[in-house]
Amino acid sequence: MKSLPYFCRGEVVRGFGRGSKELGIPTANFPDSVVDNLPADISTGIYYGWACVGNGDVYKMVMSIGWNPYYKNTKKSMETHVIHKFKEDFYGEVLSVVLVGYIRPERSFNSLEALIAAINSDIEEAKMKLELPEHHKLKDDNFFTSTANSSSVLPAMPSPSTSQTIMNGH
Ligand code: ADP
Ligand code: MG
Repeated sequence: MKSLPYFCRGEVVRGFGRGSKELGIPTANFPDSVVDNLPADISTGIYYGWACVGNGDVYKMVMSIGWNPYYKNTKKSMETHVIHKFKEDFYGEVLSVVLVGYIRPERSFNSLEALIAAINSDIEEAKMKLELPEHHKLKDDNFFTSTANSSSVLPAMPSPSTSQTIMNGH
């Protein structure tokens, strides 16, 4: 997939209550605007990558890109499970992600146990693959610290001399 790594961000919206949280695997949903911008070569299936909520730390993630039942499977959805235990839900916050690699296509399962086992194996694969140096370095990408992601904590305006230095440094 030539579009990988793929960076995107958007507000976390409510999903369609599949009860992911009850399975112990909550998935944060992106709005349609983010899904509609996906490059055509990013096919449906399970991906691994890095994710960050608001200005928080960057964690490993697995993402399912699939057909949204709410729209009678005519529209894609993007659901991110961040591999971290959060104290609270983060609906309405900005989720920034980079899709790094592909794990497997979408598929259906005969039982809930089989589904959970598959997701847990996806999570293990994500954890392992993201340790590869070429994947791990994306964790520190400027994308996760850029101003678009931290508009609520903008630093004070630099003094003219400082900004001159910054300009010259580029
Ligand atoms: P919904 O159908 O609204 O997406 P879920 O049961 O999938 O409901 O829960 C998703 C919500 O749980 C996210 O929008 C987020 O606010 C919260 N959440 C808490 N921990 C995580 C996590 N580790 N990964 C993703 N979402 C999480
Ligand atoms: Mg969800």
